[in-house]
Amino acid sequence: MKIAIIGTTPIMIIHALLQSKSHDVTIFERSNKLGGAWAYGFYKNIVFSEKTNVVAPTNIVQEKYIPKMINFLKKKFKIKIKKNLKFYKHFSRYKPKNIFHFRFDKLFKTLKNSKIKIKHSWVKSFIVNEKKVLINGSEFDKIYLPYYCGIKSAKIDKKKYYFPYTKNINCHLQIVVKRKFMDEIYFSKHFDSAFDRVQFLKKKKYFFFTGRVNKKYKKYSKKQILKVSRLNFEPRDLLRMQLIKYTYFYRKTNQIKKLLKLNNCESVKIVDTRQFVQSFMKSGFIK
Ligand SMILES: Cc1cc2nc3c(=O)[nH]c(=O)nc-3n(C[C@H](O)[C@H](O)[C@H](O)COP(=O)(O)OP(=O)(O)OC[C@H]3O[C@@H](n4cnc5c(N)ncnc54)[C@H](O)[C@@H]3O)c2cc1C
Repeated sequence: MKIAIIGTTPIMIIHALLQSKSHDVTIFERSNKLGGAWAYGFYKNIVFSEKTNVVAPTNIVQEKYIPKMINFLKKKFKIKIKKNLKFYKHFSRYKPKNIFHFRFDKLFKTLKNSKIKIKHSWVKSFIVNEKKVLINGSEFDKIYLPYYCGIKSAKIDKKKYYFPYTKNINCHLQIVVKRKFMDEIYFSKHFDSAFDRVQFLKKKKYFFFTGRVNKKYKKYSKKQILKVSRLNFEPRDLLRMQLIKYTYFYRKTNQIKKLLKLNNCESVKIVDTRQFVQSFMKSGFIK
């Protein structure tokens, strides 16, 4: 079977790698970078998460499931996962007992070394006709779509479907310094007025700060954002400071409902990508 997968967030890569064992898989990724909201960056060959991503349970069912998920990811994809021992301020009402640090960059390497074809092109829409899916001129048997993909229409057996999204831009300030200027933080919500979530971790001999910029300051320059924040490091310790902007195609509940209508078609699979643990559980990777 020929399978097309849209996007390269970890959950979609897991689908792609598992499907590629028995099928011919092609990934369409509009960006030159892999990972979507989970993309990684580099500083002197040190890999770091560009955004403040965490894999955290949001209820007791997810918390109990996580050890199984960890086993699966370690065994199948050799993803390094370790218990987080740094400060963690939870983001949901549920207070997790354990938080783990997942190195998903390993997944990107596995993908690059696999037989899966990656086409760096934007899929605007697709057509399904007699169980064949036509995408950018190529034919497939099935298409996998994540919730936040930038596709808003499809024609299925001559019927037109419209499933709009809301385009959003997310902005993170990323800083590398040579000296520690505060305690390490794995994740903290509501850090200060400039950042609504942050991470500050030592990697090799450097310290990496990543903060998601509050909506109000998204259009500010790096210096202006620093001014409104409570970050306080010696300017001579600064090695790099950059703004990372990420455009994503958010779908509200009513927009998701429209997208889910496509599930009625056998050749289309919609993947719930709203939150990692939930997505993993729903995907049924562990039988
Ligand atoms: C900044 C940010 C941080 C988040 N942090 C967390 C977190 O810490 N933990 C958590 O559980 N959830 C988090 N989420 C929730 C998030 O929704 C999911 O974790 C997940 O990344 C969503 O996956 P997605 O594939 O639907 O969208 P995205 O992550 O936006 O990825 C979509 C991918 O598909 C590509 N793409 C999109 N449209 C097209 C197209 N038409 N043609 C070709 N390629 C296309 C994009 O380039 C991208 O690679 C975060 C979301 C955002 C935006």
